[in-house]
Amino acid sequence: MEKFETDGVVLKTGVTGEADLIVYVLTRQRGIIRAFAKGARSTKSRLHAGAAAFVYGAFSFTEKNGVFHVNDIVPQEVFFALRLDLQKLSLAQYFCEILLRTVSDTESDPMLLRLFLNSLHLLCGDKKPALMLKAVFELRIAVLSGYAPALVACGQCGEYETPLMFFDVSEGALYCENCAQAPRSELIPVAVISAMRHIVFSEFSDLFRFQLEDALLPVLNRMTERYLMQCFQHRFRLLEFFYQSL
Ligand SMILES: [Zn+2]
Repeated sequence: MEKFETDGVVLKTGVTGEADLIVYVLTRQRGIIRAFAKGARSTKSRLHAGAAAFVYGAFSFTEKNGVFHVNDIVPQEVFFALRLDLQKLSLAQYFCEILLRTVSDTESDPMLLRLFLNSLHLLCGDKKPALMLKAVFELRIAVLSGYAPALVACGQCGEYETPLMFFDVSEGALYCENCAQAPRSELIPVAVISAMRHIVFSEFSDLFRFQLEDALLPVLNRMTERYLMQCFQHRFRLLEFFYQSL
């Protein structure tokens, strides 16, 4: 039997037994832990407040034969604003769906937790447009999962930039106007290419610091969304709810 503590955030909960919950916790370095929270549905339980989606805090677990139990949760941030706004909630739930699909259950890059928490903070504080947060999350999580698109220069001739630039979603590659092959490559405004380069290559502390005119945000989103789906060969179900909330 192993006891350990880690910080993490609850991605989802499921009902089990008479008063118990199963919680899925994205931890800093141990991936997503699926654990039983005994009695957590009872309002008298000390786990009750913490065993809920989007609660970030300090978790204490016990593991025996591959089965995890939560012993204690000390909530530090509950992202309450998500519960008051359908658009924010549906985007946050979409992020959770991506994490549940892409993060392993044994280990994780600490940057994943940081990316998720930062995205939730900015979303709750109305600091950035939802579409910008969505695009950053989609593309950066692809990078963190080992699927960085090749955006340095044209994949054929090495040209950094030509007046017209093209992106091939299936290859994750960029092409200049001389090398692009229709219809596989799609013409993308250079400002969107610059935004994608920023999301892929910037230091984490600068990740959300870029400008893109509002009219181009949907183009950026279409690219990051299709690229993420292509990387994981998966259609994320909750994306529909987000679009319905716009
Ligand atoms: Zn080229």
